[in-house]
Amino acid sequence: MIIVLKPQASEKDANEILAKIASLGLKPLYMPGIERTVLGALGDERVLAQLHLDAYPMVDEIKPVLSPYKLVSRELQSHDSIVSIGGIKVGGGAFTVIAGPCSVESEEQLFSVSEMIAKQGITLLRGGAFKPRTSPYSFQGLGLEGLELLKAARDKYQLNIVSEIIDPNDAELMHDYIDCYQIGARNMQNFRLLEAVGKHSDKAVLLKRGMSATIEELLLAAEYIINAGNPNVILCERGIRTFETATRNTLDLNAVAYLKEKSHLPVLVDPSHGTGVKSLINPLSRAAVAVGADGIIVETHLKPTEALSDGHQALNADDFATLMADIKPFIKAAGKSI
Ligand code: PEP
Ligand code: MN
Repeated sequence: MIIVLKPQASEKDANEILAKIASLGLKPLYMPGIERTVLGALGDERVLAQLHLDAYPMVDEIKPVLSPYKLVSRELQSHDSIVSIGGIKVGGGAFTVIAGPCSVESEEQLFSVSEMIAKQGITLLRGGAFKPRTSPYSFQGLGLEGLELLKAARDKYQLNIVSEIIDPNDAELMHDYIDCYQIGARNMQNFRLLEAVGKHSDKAVLLKRGMSATIEELLLAAEYIINAGNPNVILCERGIRTFETATRNTLDLNAVAYLKEKSHLPVLVDPSHGTGVKSLINPLSRAAVAVGADGIIVETHLKPTEALSDGHQALNADDFATLMADIKPFIKAAGKSI
C-alpha cells in the first residue's frame, strides 16, 4: 500500500504512521520526495484497515500497489534509481559500458584487456572468477586467484570490477575484491544467493535475466535482493531461449522497454550472450541504446581464439574500438552521456 502524505506533513507525522505500520508486522517504507512524502506498507495489506489511515489529518491518499513486485515498481517510486558501481553512476541519463573477458584466465590476459578498455575510456571491467558452466568439464574459473587478479587490475588501471557470484557463502569474501556482484542467468532464481547479496553487502548487484524467466520473475528476483536490504540493483537483459537457433539466444528488447516502464531500476543489455554472434553485437548495442537501455555489458578478449570461455563472441581490440565509435552518436541522439 502507498500512503501519500499532505505537503505540510512533518517527519514526526510520518514517523508516527510508520511506527503504526511496523506494529502490525508490515514492512514500513519511508520515501521523502521534493514536494511530499510517500510512505509504504508491505506485507498482508488487509491488516492495514485496522489503522483507519484515512482518518489521519496528514494523509492525503491511500493507494494499493497493484503489481506483484513492489519495491522495484514505479508505482512505489516514480523517478529513476541511480546505482553506483564504485562511484560510477548507472542510470539517470548516463550510458554505461562494462567490458572485459568472459573469464579471468591469467594476469597477462586480464591486464592486456584492461589496458585496452581503459584506453577507450571504459572504467568498468567485467570478468568471471567463478564460472557457472553448462558442462562440468569446461573451465570453471580461477576462483580466489581470479579475484586477486581482478583486484590487481582494479588498482593498476583504476577500474571498477563486476564479477559473478555463484555461492551465497562467497558474498563476504567477494566484497573486498569487487565493486558489483553479477548474478548470472542460471542463478536468477537462486533465492539464497539473492538474499545473500541483499543482506551482506550494499554494493551494486547486476541481476541477469534467466534464460527462461519471465519479466515478472526477473522483477521478483530483484525484489528479493532489495527486500533483503540492498537497493542497488541493476537489471540485465541477456537474451532468452526461443525456438530460434540461428543465434545463441533471442535478445528480448521488448523486455528492456517494458522494464523501463514498470521499474525504476537501471536496465543494461548484454548483446554478447544475447546474440552469441560477434557481428551482431554492434547492431544490437545500437538497438539497446535506441530502446532506452542504461548501458551494455560486452565480452572482450585480445586473443579471442585462445579464450577459455565464450571466445566465439568476444570482441577484439579493433572490434571494440569500432563498437565504441559506432554507439557514440546513438548515445548522443538518445540524450545520454557516456
Ligand atoms: C557471463 O556473463 O559470462 C555469463 C555466464 O552470463 P549469463 O549468466 O548471462 O549466461
Ligand atoms: Mn560469457
